[in-house]
Amino acid sequence: MEQVSLLKAESYQSDVKQKIVELLEPLGGLGTFCKSGDRVLIKPNFILPRSPESAATTHPAVILAVVSLLKDMGCHVAIGDSPGMGSAEAVIRKLGIYDALKQYRAELVEFRTPAAVSASQRLPFEPRFKNLLLAKEVFDYDRVINLPKLKSHGQMGITLATKNLYGCLPGPAKGQWHFAAGRDLKTFARLLVEIAFTVNPVLHILDGIVGMDGNGPSNGRPREFQLLAASSNPIALDRMIVEIIRHKPEKFPIFEAATELKLPGVQLDEIQPLGTDPALCVIDDFQVPSLGPPNWVGNKPLTILVEHLISRRLILKRKVCIHCRKCEQYCPAKAIIYRRGIRINESKCIKCCCCQELCPVGALEVADPWLIRWFGRRR
Ligand code: SF4
Ligand code: SF4
Repeated sequence: MEQVSLLKAESYQSDVKQKIVELLEPLGGLGTFCKSGDRVLIKPNFILPRSPESAATTHPAVILAVVSLLKDMGCHVAIGDSPGMGSAEAVIRKLGIYDALKQYRAELVEFRTPAAVSASQRLPFEPRFKNLLLAKEVFDYDRVINLPKLKSHGQMGITLATKNLYGCLPGPAKGQWHFAAGRDLKTFARLLVEIAFTVNPVLHILDGIVGMDGNGPSNGRPREFQLLAASSNPIALDRMIVEIIRHKPEKFPIFEAATELKLPGVQLDEIQPLGTDPALCVIDDFQVPSLGPPNWVGNKPLTILVEHLISRRLILKRKVCIHCRKCEQYCPAKAIIYRRGIRINESKCIKCCCCQELCPVGALEVADPWLIRWFGRRR
């Protein structure tokens, strides 16, 4: 059975370190995953430099709690990422923990150096993406601990443990792989699974004390879910959370990719929940902004036939846009043109949501086209 531990945690003001200890207890404690003298790399969600209150990144209290626990054990601790915008250091400074990490003598690592990794030796399945270059820095440590955030995601619906490891691609490679996968969500999901299992963290600890839904992963609404979750299996952890937010797993391409690879943890009956009863962790009304077809269309031929009319798309809130042109800069498909305001070329757009993710003011939103909104109102 794949074990997933759950724990209710009211706020970041409570003793988060003690909460993490309680969370990991049913899994055997942190000592099951690391030992004294280990060089441990922590990979949080550092999507871009934002304040802790925005809920865009893993909360600093969770990061410091894990750093402190590892230090208590006698580990050498490093913390790193390759943010979509800015650097890991810029995110750490924005979160206000630069000095605290220094005091812990935690090493700060930027994932910058592309390196070939022998994926076939690490993966429990035949890799499809044989020319994957991940950040060399990730593999300089004995163990990796993944610290994802519970957030909605424009392209994949949700970002949890598996998706968080996409940040192990160095800088520009993230855009290139988005472009290579194109519009095919299943191909992109397969890529995410391959990256997650190549990096192969020993432990995933999800920060859902305050998470995000709606226009995530950076501009959605922060919500108090009061939840921490942990597992050694990212697929099982993600699957349990999808159950908790009361959405169907079929909505999320990650599970389709994991099912195809026969990975354990996709089916609920393969998961043993530990700690707090999942029924007590339920999150209602979690808004998922997926760019896939609207949920009510269950008819596949009809969906394909009128996809260009019914697919959700990126809508620009013109009054919010500050004309910074960052979206144009980061669009991997060069689908954004700036002419006294931004325009998205729908035929070039691969729906990767990088622009929506990195817009500093949340001016891009995933929404239904007017036809669907009109039809939805009349149903
Ligand atoms: S990144 Fe956002 S604010 Fe900047 S130009 Fe694009 S839509 Fe406007
Ligand atoms: S316009 Fe936005 S969603 Fe479309 S390809 Fe460019 S970055 Fe991706």
